[in-house]
Amino acid sequence: MSIIRFNALKETLHRKPVQVNQSEKRSTLFGQNVFNKYAMQQYLTRAAYESVMNAIEHGTRIDRKIADQVAVSMKDWAMSKGATHYTHWFQPLTGATAEKHDAFFESINGSLAMEKFDGEQLVQQEPDASSFPSGGIRNTFEARGFTAWDPTSPAFIYERTLCIPTIFVAYTGEALDNKTPLLKSLQAIDTHATAVCRYFDKNINKVNATLGWEQEFFLIDTALAVSRPDIQLTGRTLIGHSSAKGQQLDDHYFGIIPARAMSFMQDLEEECMLLGIPVKTRHNEVAPNQFEVAPIFEEVNLAVDHNCLLMDVMQKVADRHQFKVLFHEKPFAGINGSAKHNNWSLALENGTNLLSPGKTPMKNLQFLTFFVNTIKAVFENEELLRASVVSASNDHRLGANEAPPAIISVFIGAQLSAVLDELENVTKGKLSPKEKTDLKLNIIGKIPEILLDNTDINRTSPFAFTGNKFEFRAVGSSANCAGPMTVLNTIIAKQLKEFKQDVDQLIESKNLKKDEAIFNVLREYIKASKKIRFDGDGYGQAWEKEAKKRGLSNNGTTPAALKVMISKNVIDLYEEMNVMSKIEIEARYEIKLAEYTKRLQIESRVLGDISRNHVVPTAIIYQNTLLENTKNLKEIFGGEYKNIAKEQIELIMTISKHITEINAKVIQMEAARSEANKQIGLKSAEQYCGSVKPFFEQIRYHCDKLETMVDDNLWPLTKYRELLFTK
Ligand code: ADP
Ligand code: MG
Repeated sequence: MSIIRFNALKETLHRKPVQVNQSEKRSTLFGQNVFNKYAMQQYLTRAAYESVMNAIEHGTRIDRKIADQVAVSMKDWAMSKGATHYTHWFQPLTGATAEKHDAFFESINGSLAMEKFDGEQLVQQEPDASSFPSGGIRNTFEARGFTAWDPTSPAFIYERTLCIPTIFVAYTGEALDNKTPLLKSLQAIDTHATAVCRYFDKNINKVNATLGWEQEFFLIDTALAVSRPDIQLTGRTLIGHSSAKGQQLDDHYFGIIPARAMSFMQDLEEECMLLGIPVKTRHNEVAPNQFEVAPIFEEVNLAVDHNCLLMDVMQKVADRHQFKVLFHEKPFAGINGSAKHNNWSLALENGTNLLSPGKTPMKNLQFLTFFVNTIKAVFENEELLRASVVSASNDHRLGANEAPPAIISVFIGAQLSAVLDELENVTKGKLSPKEKTDLKLNIIGKIPEILLDNTDINRTSPFAFTGNKFEFRAVGSSANCAGPMTVLNTIIAKQLKEFKQDVDQLIESKNLKKDEAIFNVLREYIKASKKIRFDGDGYGQAWEKEAKKRGLSNNGTTPAALKVMISKNVIDLYEEMNVMSKIEIEARYEIKLAEYTKRLQIESRVLGDISRNHVVPTAIIYQNTLLENTKNLKEIFGGEYKNIAKEQIELIMTISKHITEINAKVIQMEAARSEANKQIGLKSAEQYCGSVKPFFEQIRYHCDKLETMVDDNLWPLTKYRELLFTK
């Protein structure tokens, strides 16, 4: 059995970095395979170009005639770049991306052939949707699904296929994907943020949300990955004794990127450039063989598409370099897991960042308005925000022994906290001219300076203000950012709507000036949302206690965290913001629960298999060697053997103990599993969480003990030190 392990190691040790030709400047490559503004200007008629730009900027409809023109131009452009097929590219609720390729090629009268692509094919397609999760939507309505072009995310060519980003909806109108609610949440935040911006500048017509993600991942040699059934089937190691050296020395973080990984990164970056994904930074992460890539931030919809695309492209590029990419949040016990920090902000069309203070007091008040409203929105909806990042794999990070905790809190730093504290003292109602001047000059006027040296960034906070954006760190490395981004946009849109109502009301009823009304409302918001602010150590137990006192939620597991999703408040919120209907929310809730249950079911089966079919038989083989040895010693040394073979005899007994425990626990786990399988929905998920999952650690404990005892030559599963330190 150990043959696979040793062959894999041999194969890995012989690998050389794959040569990557870096022929052209990055800036020359950038966007070459994207039907972007530049390509559209070249290929589209003026009317068609304007129509598409209008759709992108203002959400107007593109009529059928124009769609035909766009399709023909898109096809010509794509064929000039060697594309032969096209596909509607979408994000079903599996969390991955989906595509079905059709050739441009069509035969005419059986003998002639030509390349065709028209408006109908561009605008709408009907992939066989029956195998995508629908959370009961399709069963209930007998509805089929269709994909529809999203012109706000440009088409691109990958592997000779023209990919058209689309939404995926049922014929009855319910969204079956992640993109549709995201687009609606972006609409909501645009509407309500624009309305608030007009307090400060009447000419503002649009606000975009921006996202810069930071993708962490592990790279493992393909041969080594294949040698581990658990990595193959679950994306993580279910057993494995920790390596003597892990990340204790911090010698990997920001260190020299190993040669093979470096050539993978260069290759990946080149692909990203062609696809218009603006990746900018790459570095080693904390754990051995862990890395990160991050782009320049973009408008949220595009950034989400780019992250989905990156994850697809990464695996394909990795294949060329004989790597497997692990996106799992916790592939290895005992060392750091992977996250995908979501940096979020709001920007005007000219690029002005609303979470960055400006040069005038009014601009600083605008900054403060968005800053305080974001904090308040997070306070009001902390449980929903937590629910937006759930998954079986992310449960290993949040609320487990690694941070950030499952408690959502906001870090803003001591200096901004001091500003908010001062604003709590603003006089109720009308302000004296002196107070106004004082506020504008001495309090909010100081914000730009404060932010210049706002260096005490707290790494343990799940939601931190980092100078000109909020960084949501609870998002898992394998997640589709659309989920958390939809929630963030929606809750802040709702908050801004309320803010506008509150301010307007004060202006009308109390006859306050605009800025007075804003100061008055902000004062109340700062007081009301104080409990969510926490600058201390988020990993500590003291915080858990304190958070409980403050009434913040601490949902450590997926089944517990998900419940809020279908609460009345949340359904009302989504409906009011026109992001999702009750049916759509309930469908997503069902899908999340089912996915959780299935993942634990698979892990449980794989663990049963490797512990009983790999670990136990190996332990028995080694035990037999010890028995044989003991017998021989007895034969030669007679009664004295007991002293001579003392170690062996003890080991034989210890091995038996562990084997017995493994067998017993696996049997108990299987019984718990079949009980859980009898339930459905939340019940089933809860049983998997409460009665099946606890066996994972217990079984693992005995397997890992055996690993430390059994002859290394016999051990069948590639060890942690080999997985983590073979470069
Ligand atoms: P780190 O968190 O590792 O210290 P940085 O603070 O440099 O890294 O920021 C990381 C990410 O923040 C990058 O992906 C960057 O694009 C993104 N970012 C910067 N400004 C904004 C913004 N205004 N909106 C959204 N994301 C942003
Ligand atoms: Mg970060």
